[in-house]
Amino acid sequence: MDYLPLFVDMRDRLVIVIGGGVVAHRKTELLLKAHARVRVVAPQLCADLAVYRDLGRIEHRPLLFCASQLEGAVLVVAATDDEAVNDAVARAARERGVLVNVVDDGARSSFIFPAIVDRSPLIVAVGTAGASPTLARRVRTQIEALLPERLGQLATYAGRWREAVRQALPALPARLRFWDNFFNGPVAASLVAGNAAGANEAMQRLLDQARAAAGERQGEVYLIGVGPGDPDLLTLRAQQLLQQADVLLHDRLVPEAILGRARRDAQRINVGKSPGKHEHTQEYINQLLLEHARAGKRVARVKGGDPFIFGRGGEELQVVRDAGIPVVVVPGITASLGAAASAGIPLTLRGLSQAITLVTATGANSGSLNWTALASPQQTVVFYMSAAQIDHIVLQLRSHGLAATQPVALIERATWPEERVLKSTLAELPELARGAQLQSPTLLVVGEVAALAQVRGLIGELGAVQSAHARNGE
Ligand code: SAH
Repeated sequence: MDYLPLFVDMRDRLVIVIGGGVVAHRKTELLLKAHARVRVVAPQLCADLAVYRDLGRIEHRPLLFCASQLEGAVLVVAATDDEAVNDAVARAARERGVLVNVVDDGARSSFIFPAIVDRSPLIVAVGTAGASPTLARRVRTQIEALLPERLGQLATYAGRWREAVRQALPALPARLRFWDNFFNGPVAASLVAGNAAGANEAMQRLLDQARAAAGERQGEVYLIGVGPGDPDLLTLRAQQLLQQADVLLHDRLVPEAILGRARRDAQRINVGKSPGKHEHTQEYINQLLLEHARAGKRVARVKGGDPFIFGRGGEELQVVRDAGIPVVVVPGITASLGAAASAGIPLTLRGLSQAITLVTATGANSGSLNWTALASPQQTVVFYMSAAQIDHIVLQLRSHGLAATQPVALIERATWPEERVLKSTLAELPELARGAQLQSPTLLVVGEVAALAQVRGLIGELGAVQSAHARNGE
């Protein structure tokens, strides 16, 4: 994060604007909206600023800029069309330790004005750290379209009830649930539609109900699959329930970008296996789930991919159900689907593959796998949790009849920014995989369709391996 977003109380604080043209006017208008005290330093004022001066809304110093004029400023805005002056303002402000914005000049600025959606008191600020103001404005427009015009009134209304709700429902989870219900419910809908009649009575009824329910409230569990890693692959339901959860029990590999979609105040517990550290047993995770749910919390069990595919979600579901606790299962995009999409491997394809097998060949269970079936033609086999078993898998598949030239693809960290895709053949795979220094998580795809993979991430060892292949005419 290159810039820290803040909402600053500017009421009656002095902002010095250098420049008296239309750009200065635009910034002055915004500053006045935030009730700042504005002093404009400029030999001349444009017509609009002159009106503000005449109305006594700004103070005008009809002078050329010099550093001493920054005295007492909390913020400084340089809005002249003279780069040398703007530069002098920026330097003088920095010397005094005062934050400065040079309009349309991120490099000289120490703060920037975000694009905003103003539904006061609700404000959405959007910034791209100066990378693309156009993009910020587009996002602003998209958000603008999502937020009803009267959302500000709704926020003000909620603000008036805040203290009463806090007193009626002292426990935070109950309060959060109350507000969730309120914002999803009919009272909020009426207010947004401009109809406030009966709102207070309805609100009081809601609050009474919530207070009655708070005493006897039961927790619940959400078994959420969050997909292979890219937060854009979350389902809407996953996002909604992440927002509702009071406690998150998450696997180690669930990225921060996804956990960050949960509420800030939600408690996070990493129950994942991390190399070299104590491994939490399934028994322990089950206990935690029950413990928190019995304490009346909404517990999100956050799992990579889909909860029911090699995720032990089935066991957790059973434990929670047996305890009589309500549970919701949210499907996620399993790693093989995410990896196939991003590597461009159609898992089924007319003429090449008419079945898909998802399998794991970890040490303990590989003996019981039906290798004859896995080696049969016209299908795609995706191996989960198998990076350490590659030699064994290759040996088994070949000895059960798959050709040395059978196409394979390894997809490492599928859908993550650092995703790598390696394409090879069964015979060459073990050596290539050794050279690639694979990082977890990794999937292995075996089947004719693997030949269609788009190789990605030609870096380090894998890059060397890939270019050797290119030279061999592959
Ligand atoms: N429930 C998960 C799988 C859990 S098992 C799902 O449906 O995807 C963990 C294994 O999944 C890893 O060893 C790896 O083989 C695979 N995996 C998970 N995320 C992955 C990713 N982003 N890229 C490649 N493989 C992944």
